[in-house]
Amino acid sequence: MDQIEELLGVTRELGRDRFLPRAAEYDRDGRFPTENYADLRDAGFLGLVIPREYGGLGVSYADYARISAELGFWCGTTALTFNMHTSSMLWSGALADDLPMTETQRRQHNENRSRIYAGVVEAGHIFAQPFSEPNSAAAAGKAPFGTEATAVEGGFRISGRKHFASLSGHADYYGVLCTLAGAEAPSASNTVYLAVAKDAPGFSIHGDWDVLGMRGTVSRNLLFEDVFVEPGAQLLPTGLYYQAARDWPHMFMTLCPTYMGIARAAFDFTCRYLRGELDGAPPAGAALHSPTKQYAVANMRIKLEQAEALFQRAISEARFQPAKSQRLRAYATQYTVMEYANELCREAIRVCGGRAIFKNLRLERLYRDSRCGSLMLPWTPDICIERLGAESLSGE
Ligand SMILES: Cc1cc2nc3c(=O)[nH]c(=O)nc-3n(C[C@H](O)[C@H](O)[C@H](O)COP(=O)(O)OP(=O)(O)OC[C@H]3O[C@@H](n4cnc5c(N)ncnc54)[C@H](O)[C@@H]3O)c2cc1C
Repeated sequence: MDQIEELLGVTRELGRDRFLPRAAEYDRDGRFPTENYADLRDAGFLGLVIPREYGGLGVSYADYARISAELGFWCGTTALTFNMHTSSMLWSGALADDLPMTETQRRQHNENRSRIYAGVVEAGHIFAQPFSEPNSAAAAGKAPFGTEATAVEGGFRISGRKHFASLSGHADYYGVLCTLAGAEAPSASNTVYLAVAKDAPGFSIHGDWDVLGMRGTVSRNLLFEDVFVEPGAQLLPTGLYYQAARDWPHMFMTLCPTYMGIARAAFDFTCRYLRGELDGAPPAGAALHSPTKQYAVANMRIKLEQAEALFQRAISEARFQPAKSQRLRAYATQYTVMEYANELCREAIRVCGGRAIFKNLRLERLYRDSRCGSLMLPWTPDICIERLGAESLSGE
């Protein structure tokens, strides 16, 4: 068995035996899935994409996306938060390896990440990835970040606010995207990406998180008041986030697998519900043989296969400087998966009927979680549509 099959098998077992049984409680209480993270840590998954020479499992982007979708099948909250951690490792790992750097930058980056990765692999450090700010333009990729980092003697001082920071209060480090202060006009090309420790003086967490779906992500507000970090806290050299966003665009598609998993789960639920196979659900009834229900299920399957085909193709095309057609396909994939995940959940409720919406079953949670996919910047369905339309017509 190759590595990815083995890891998918571990994910499936953890999901089926532990994450799914715990999911309703995390959702009901809006509680972070701490116990799931202990299981992921014990399975070595915190270092999933960390390169092998740094003690990780060295899993590729595409294989991580497959694992993330499997996680999403069992628990959306766990998959989405785990993505914040894992994509932080991916950006500073395999993605950074593809980016051009000077020799000094490369040496410094390797030194920084060897310390950061040791903390993850040996001490189980968990990373959050707060880039969203109350003014969404920066997270949408249309303006510099409002959070500022000022270079000072021996490091940086950070001031600003982030919102929707998943893993709030449950991460050891927060990977914060900031604009380097001092230039005449703030510019996205001056973005610095800094890891702030949970107990750094001046760092605090605010607000509540009582929301529709993805309730266990605990995505609260962060305040940085003159927070000091050392230069070694840089997760990427100055300016390289900007370059990554431009030249490694699939870096923003890692939120999509969670919702691919939810789409699969909605379809699986529908078939098993109608066949009368689910604990707590009614036995199979007339609906199983109804041509109308069969037609609806066939349509769901067609949508799922369409999303799946695009998803598998797009993750295999993720690379440094992809062709324009590959980048546009990534937008189309994000759009399709985020929107179809919710459409499939909506259809599943209509097809299964009233007794399927009780909270002892998972469908109503899938439905609420699935709606959140379209809210995720920078690649919301609206932004994907904007780019697909404009760039398809630009003719280059
Ligand atoms: C469950 C969940 C977890 C999240 N976790 C994280 C996380 O860990 N880290 C993180 O950084 N963020 C996270 N986010 C935040 C997310 O990516 C968005 O930044 C946030 O939802 C934006 O809030 P808003 O839609 O109210 O923004 P608003 O600015 O009020 O936007 C209103 C609407 O306009 C759209 N919009 C905004 N700006 C533009 C633009 N320039 N062009 C076109 N359309 C635009 C928005 O997509 C939205 O539809 C999370 C969100 C959710 C729902």
